Amino acid sequence: MSVDLGSARPLGWSEPGRTTLEIKTGGWRTRRPAYVEATAPCRAACPAGEPIARWIERARLGDHAGAWALIREENPFPAITGRVCAHPCESACNRGQYDGAVAINGLERFIGDWGLEHGTPARPAITRAECVAVVGSGPAGLACTYHLSRLGYRVHLFEAEHELGGLLRYGIPEYRLPRAVLTREIEFAIAPDVEVFTGRRLGEDLSWSTLAAYDAAFLATGATLPMRLRVPGEEARGTGHGLTFLRHVNAGAVPSLGRRLVVVGGGSTAMDVARSARRLGVPSVTVLALEAREDMPAQPEEVAEALSEGVEIVNGVGVFSFLEDSGGVSGVVARPARLGRDDAGAVLPLFEPGASLTVEADGVLVSVGQRADLSRLPAGVLCDSGLIVVNGGGATPTRHVFAGGDAASNQRTVTHAIGAGTRAARSIHAALSGSTSAADPAPGAWALPAPEHVVGFSEINVHYFRRVRRARRRQRPPDQRLRSFVETAGGFDEETAAAEMARCFTCGRCVGCDNCYIFCPDMAVSRVDGGYRISTDHCKGCGLCIEECPRGSLHMVSER
Ligand code: FAD
Repeated sequence: MSVDLGSARPLGWSEPGRTTLEIKTGGWRTRRPAYVEATAPCRAACPAGEPIARWIERARLGDHAGAWALIREENPFPAITGRVCAHPCESACNRGQYDGAVAINGLERFIGDWGLEHGTPARPAITRAECVAVVGSGPAGLACTYHLSRLGYRVHLFEAEHELGGLLRYGIPEYRLPRAVLTREIEFAIAPDVEVFTGRRLGEDLSWSTLAAYDAAFLATGATLPMRLRVPGEEARGTGHGLTFLRHVNAGAVPSLGRRLVVVGGGSTAMDVARSARRLGVPSVTVLALEAREDMPAQPEEVAEALSEGVEIVNGVGVFSFLEDSGGVSGVVARPARLGRDDAGAVLPLFEPGASLTVEADGVLVSVGQRADLSRLPAGVLCDSGLIVVNGGGATPTRHVFAGGDAASNQRTVTHAIGAGTRAARSIHAALSGSTSAADPAPGAWALPAPEHVVGFSEINVHYFRRVRRARRRQRPPDQRLRSFVETAGGFDEETAAAEMARCFTCGRCVGCDNCYIFCPDMAVSRVDGGYRISTDHCKGCGLCIEECPRGSLHMVSER
């Protein structure tokens, strides 16, 4: 028997001409998925704010020029940071919890080197009337100059030395940062319209009143005054400071060092001093470090390379005194100690019970850090604890005076200095153009916006990623390394770089993998314009698309 139900008839969607689209299951929903570009942990950790997942994706698609340009939106020096950055991005990388962090630093060098060979740097035009003075041409001053030019400003760059680069040139040795790379990267970063004045030292050849005539000034004079140990015998003949020694070596001089050298310190400078001395033929080099091996401020790679080059490292000791005979310094007495700090934050050994250690030496180079020379600044520039006082955007309390890098921060790395220079340029622009944004931490200042959401490992669906071993950089064998100052680490070739790029999870960014489209049980996802659209008529908010998204680029949001 058949009954005519009229309008109460159930929807016969199997009937010809009918489709499931008519079943508006979306009405059951209280929350729905949304595509987002969430912050990848590598970017959140990068002191220069590089969009790492985005440039790796661009390079993976074969667009090296696009990847290079994306990095240089923030950091003008990828070939430099790809060699010397301490890569906190890799410590934050979600892949580190799976099969090893992506070798971001090596990839950055790969793209940076590609840029130096094939890239054409943009030459920004001057579009603004104001002129800004930048003092100091280390990474902070150079990054600020680069970004100010991109923002259309005229820039006058003042540098005390005769060449640009700061510690990149006078500190970091050539075997880690070849001078050809440094010089070319600076040439690419400094627009032709920038006026460069070398041999001009603020407080000597450059007066504060000259600076005051500019619309704004950025002070990036670094921190290069060597710290002292303040122990008996420190002034004996044959003792010196690590950075002064490196300056000589980087200038091509070969200081005489004797056959037994002690280097005091545990940071990059100490490692560079010890390794340079080995390259200059010193047979016995002993580093005395306060920190335990795993806590040394030098990068672990530097420590491992120093050890493989025959440097001996003694950890957990503080220098107590220097021994002296008629010929000058003859040794160092050290005692078990751990790291402490005085009221000004300077390193202080906290001696502990235990037998002292005497290391015989013909020379001692102290490399326990540097402080900023603030004596040349006018009284109006506020300083505290050995640093110029700045806000998050690099603005000092003095109107239109900005500062950054080692002179204004104890986070003493190249990439922090680059980030500080970039933020200061944007702050200067905000101050001179009167622009403000929601991201301003203080009036007239600029900072990276706080990331809304940083993608965690739990948001990555690792079932979609095969385990692949992280690529390693090639190293020249130690005996070859010790013969010259030729670069120690090799770069990735195309094939290795491509394989390493493929390891990136691309956290927080949709790459069009189709998983949401394939897995949606309601077929609510459709492909549109290279992306996807979720039909709110049909999405029930089940969250399966979020579960199946490999990279955390779909988030559940509540219905309003
Ligand atoms: P600087 O690089 O010091 O530049 C300051 C510039 O200002 C200099 O050119 C100086 O001549 C100029 N200047 C100074 N006073 C005046 C004045 N009165 N008037 C005009 N100009 C002036 N960081 C890393 O990330 N990775 C590393 O591997 C690494 N290795 C290092 C190795 C060594 C040996 C040293 C010493 C440091 C190393 N660092 C490393 C730290 C890093 O080099 C610094 O943090 C960084 O260079 C700071 O940049 P900056 O621009 O603030 O200052």
